[in-house]
Amino acid sequence: MGQLLSIIAHILMYCSLLFQQRMAALHRLRQCHPTGTAISHLHTSSRAPAKQHYKMLVLGGGSGGIAMSARMKRMLGAENVAVVEPSEMHYYQPIWTLVGAGAKSVASSGRPTASIMPSGVKWVKSRVQEISPDTNTVRTEDGTEISYEYLIVALGLQLHYEKIKGLPEALEHPKIGSNYSVETVEKTWKALQNFKEGNAVFTFPNTPVKCPGAPQKIMYLSDDFLRKTGKRANANVIYNTSLPVLFGIKKYADSLWQIVKSRDLQVNLRHNLIEVRADKQEAVFENLDNPGETKVIEFEMLHVAPPMGPCSVLKDSPLADQAGWLDVDKDCLQHKRYPNVFGIGDCTNLPTAKTAAAVGSAILESTLRYDGYSSCPLVTSYNTVVLAEFDYNGQPLETFPINQAKERRVMYHMKADLMPYLYWHGFLRGLWGGPEPYRKLLHLGMK
Ligand SMILES: Cc1cc2nc3c(=O)[nH]c(=O)nc-3n(C[C@H](O)[C@H](O)[C@H](O)COP(=O)(O)OP(=O)(O)OC[C@H]3O[C@@H](n4cnc5c(N)ncnc54)[C@H](O)[C@@H]3O)c2cc1C
Repeated sequence: MGQLLSIIAHILMYCSLLFQQRMAALHRLRQCHPTGTAISHLHTSSRAPAKQHYKMLVLGGGSGGIAMSARMKRMLGAENVAVVEPSEMHYYQPIWTLVGAGAKSVASSGRPTASIMPSGVKWVKSRVQEISPDTNTVRTEDGTEISYEYLIVALGLQLHYEKIKGLPEALEHPKIGSNYSVETVEKTWKALQNFKEGNAVFTFPNTPVKCPGAPQKIMYLSDDFLRKTGKRANANVIYNTSLPVLFGIKKYADSLWQIVKSRDLQVNLRHNLIEVRADKQEAVFENLDNPGETKVIEFEMLHVAPPMGPCSVLKDSPLADQAGWLDVDKDCLQHKRYPNVFGIGDCTNLPTAKTAAAVGSAILESTLRYDGYSSCPLVTSYNTVVLAEFDYNGQPLETFPINQAKERRVMYHMKADLMPYLYWHGFLRGLWGGPEPYRKLLHLGMK
């Protein structure tokens, strides 16, 4: 199985690379944006006195930052590229959904940052503290000033557990977990294993989130686990979401509603978690359609998707839009006011779901036009997935010529086995440009 997956992954990456090379050649004839500026044609003049200088500076060494730095290394040479990233470890976050349900180990989700940093690229092991695009400089927390010609911002987003009353302390409690961080993901699995009877409660916050499917994926997995262990008859499985819908894309939402009904899962829309009382095992929700009305739910297990927002260094910089996200052109990912600044991933204000899949497609498209492709493998049990794929217009943009709204076992293997392999061996090397070539091939060029 492992060898087969490895062969498939290599073929996929080879095709992806060929496709990207062809598109890049096309791009030399056609600019990405009529009023935009391609990287190779940019001219920047001001250069503030600084201790270090790089032609290409990348802020953040997560999924987007590492993949882009690998690409920039090939384009400009390793000595011209630097990445500012404080963490010693790099994590493949999408697998945390399965870690929280005990189907994968947390160790399998991480590798040392040193091992995935493109060789020869300078790793500045620090946190960016200030971004000054008017002088083309950034300052790190140890006071180093770095100047750049081009900047790629890939700072991800910030989790705000502290915005829910009682939650930071509550995360010490054995019955509360969150798949959203490496420190708390294993707690979800412990709480699930220790479940006896009562309410298993899952939440979705009242903010933009990364991977909007993740808060409910763990609900389906927990339901499956409780059935397998004979505890489901004594459990109420409850999903309280701030959203007015179960999922943003109707085709997949319709399918999920059927699953929810058939498995007797309780979904409460417009319910926002505002407080956790760990000692009493109570969660307090506000009704967003009726401000001031609150509801207290006792729980035997609680999974929290915390509020999220742009990271403070970006929010406080001139690069941010009014909400604090990186203000980029949605077609070519170039900053709207600073033409030598580009952005990728969760930190941007692109109107699409914040996912690694979106990052992958944007990597290819950043030199062409990005169509907003994003994807969410909705894990609905320990062996099935509904594979949602869609564009900026909320229209399904499916890779396979089959109905992807149906639960399928093969999609589960893709999520659990193939995608992690592609991530470590292709995506982070900047070789994965999204599924577009396969979509075209499988639909005989019709999509
Ligand atoms: C539970 C869960 C399930 C998910 N499931 C899926 C899925 O099934 N499919 C999918 O496509 N995506 C999924 N995602 C989302 C996916 O992981 C993210 O969208 C993706 O990692 C975004 O990449 P990024 O580079 O924008 O941000 P990140 O990968 O988060 O990287 C941001 C980096 O910036 C660094 N940073 C932060 N602040 C600073 C600073 N001040 N200075 C320097 N560096 C800084 C951080 O240390 C981090 O390394 C999931 C995420 C979670 C948590």
